Amino acid sequence: MRTIGVLTSGGDAPGMNAAIRAVVRTGIANGLRVMGIQRGYSGLMNGEIFEMTRSSVSDIIQRGGTILKSARSAEFRTPEGRKKAYNVLKVFGIEGLVVIGGDGSFTGAKLLSDEWDIKTVGIPGTIDNDLAYTDYTIGFDTAVNTVLDAINKLRDTSTSHERVSVVEVMGRHCGDIALYAGLAGGAESIIIPEEDYNFDELCKTIIEGKVKGKLHNLILLAEGIGGAEELAKKIEEVTGIESRATVLGHIQRGGSPTAFDRILASRLGARAVELLLEGKSKRVVGIRDNKIVDYDITEALQMEKRRDDHKKLYELSKILGY
Ligand code: ATP
Repeated sequence: MRTIGVLTSGGDAPGMNAAIRAVVRTGIANGLRVMGIQRGYSGLMNGEIFEMTRSSVSDIIQRGGTILKSARSAEFRTPEGRKKAYNVLKVFGIEGLVVIGGDGSFTGAKLLSDEWDIKTVGIPGTIDNDLAYTDYTIGFDTAVNTVLDAINKLRDTSTSHERVSVVEVMGRHCGDIALYAGLAGGAESIIIPEEDYNFDELCKTIIEGKVKGKLHNLILLAEGIGGAEELAKKIEEVTGIESRATVLGHIQRGGSPTAFDRILASRLGARAVELLLEGKSKRVVGIRDNKIVDYDITEALQMEKRRDDHKKLYELSKILGY
């Protein structure tokens, strides 16, 4: 293998730049040419490709977003789109492709390798932490810390006004951001897709909290469950306690990556290049019990989250937040 390419795809996540840096510098250190592909699969099909040097990735380890830009492409979902992508890869002499993104991006990489002679390795870059095969995805820790910062601020105003504060965070199918930020921020209640919740119980807890002298009540809500505005309104109607909603939105996607995310991205980026050098393909890299691991893409995407660990954290948050 002489030339590899790297792209970022799907939603951006803090730490993607640190991963790009690791791919580029590990590749160059091993005598490879590394091509940067802009705007994900869309840019690949359009030939938006340039050679990267050590200095192309200078001064980016601390920056959020992705210097390669990210995009979603409907065309790449079709066999014709992937044929186009392969032809472009051939023109640039790219034999191995590192895809930084989520499950959709990995599926695209797998199909490309199934259909054409190109080796692919995926790196998990998504704030949701919704990939079961890895304990953490790049960007998750930063997103949790961003939410935590917001919670700390909301606590001040909630306490001053003795209000209920409902904070809606990202996570349509995976409640990890709400769970981790809620636990770290001392939330009274956490509502996530993985655990059943009962509205009457929630209101009972809020009222009991008030009786016990709690000055505020913080509820972390994963977006998949429904809107924060609606929930806050219903809580106010039932409990009579003033309730406000805050939707954090895309703020959670940005910001300088935490040390954890930078180190994770550096380790995973380096390992992805090593796998290509070993001639491997259709693999994804991840971290399990603090060890860097890799799996076949299909196998990885079929894995299920470790429910026990999740459940324990959830139960702990209930005991501590009460
Ligand atoms: P995030 O978790 O941030 O949403 P993702 O990688 O899952 O990231 P998607 O929008 O699902 O984001 O996928 C990114 C791109 O990958 C798509 O725009 C498309 O080009 C490609 N892709 C997704 N699913 C497929 C598929 N089934 N077949 C081929 N390509 C796909």
